[in-house]
Amino acid sequence: MLAQAGRPLDIALRFLDPATQPPGAAVGELHVGRYEDAAALDRFVAGLSHVTFEFENVPVPALERVGRSASVFPPARALAEGSDRLREKAHFQRLGIPVAAHAAVDDPASLAAALATVGLPAVLKTRRSGYDGKGQAVVRTEEEARRALATLGTGLVMERLVPFTRELSALAVRTPQGEVRMWPLVENVHREGILHVSRAPATGLAPGLEEAARGHVTRLVEDLGFVGVMALEMFEEGGRLLANEMAPRVHNSGHWTIEGAETSQFENHLRAGLGLPLGSTAARGHAGMVNLVGTVPPLEALLALEGAHVHLYGKEPRARRKLGHVTVVAATAAERDRRLAAVERLVAGR
Ligand code: AMP
Repeated sequence: MLAQAGRPLDIALRFLDPATQPPGAAVGELHVGRYEDAAALDRFVAGLSHVTFEFENVPVPALERVGRSASVFPPARALAEGSDRLREKAHFQRLGIPVAAHAAVDDPASLAAALATVGLPAVLKTRRSGYDGKGQAVVRTEEEARRALATLGTGLVMERLVPFTRELSALAVRTPQGEVRMWPLVENVHREGILHVSRAPATGLAPGLEEAARGHVTRLVEDLGFVGVMALEMFEEGGRLLANEMAPRVHNSGHWTIEGAETSQFENHLRAGLGLPLGSTAARGHAGMVNLVGTVPPLEALLALEGAHVHLYGKEPRARRKLGHVTVVAATAAERDRRLAAVERLVAGR
């Protein structure tokens, strides 16, 4: 999607991916190689002016190596700050961004301490390399917590299970000169830890909530000297926002911006990184996005839905894998929801 956004601007992309058939191969030059392979990194970066990433498990040393000869955005520091959930939460708190009660868990003693301070129900998560609900377990009893510790191992964080009203994400883009723009707040529904549906602009926001979100994400990108697109995932609970995690990259909850905003997150990410003027982040109406996870309905059926914009990533189907998404845009939230419901029925096989 980055390459597709770059094409009309004459910005060509080259991809480094350890997989031999990644989606990027269809839209740009592919280098197959491991992020830990110095020679592969050097071949990849030769002749490039800029390097970015859209996957958080890229090792920081790989970015540092390519950063010797190309300009890397977002900064590697953002990746490092977000790569450990405990460090990330401490960072949020330093910036005055509220988070749910949590504690480090490494062994039975720290588990007992966490149970006392955080309470139940809670979520136990691995501090590193978890995504899409991987490496986490909801625990409702002390026995479940002990079992989760045995399964997940060490290096965990226990968080209070937040009985949120809804999940919201703030998507913002920052230029090297410090201009920050935010897309309208996005409302997200997850299933089994994977983003299922996004709606934007989020409706029925309490007064001040959007401004609070803008304040949080702006402080975050300014503190990091960030360049490019950042997503801040939050819970809305009792009219306030609690930060869950940041994604220092173009994010799934911003996929709707391709058709639903004046400028997509992908285009503004490239514009920011290359020092070009940003485009408007205003919504073009009411957008909704449904992820195609695990299986894809027949293309004919998807395209028969009025107003459906279909994006298939060309990935091998596998359980829990994001294989594509469908976006709908409408003049009203009610019409958007009708179109979304039709896509969801098809995706659910109904
Ligand atoms: P994460 O990997 O932290 O993004 O978690 C994936 C999803 O699990 C979130 O989007 C929520 O739907 C849910 N989740 C994670 N942490 C919590 C929590 N502390 N309280 C309630 N739900 C959570």
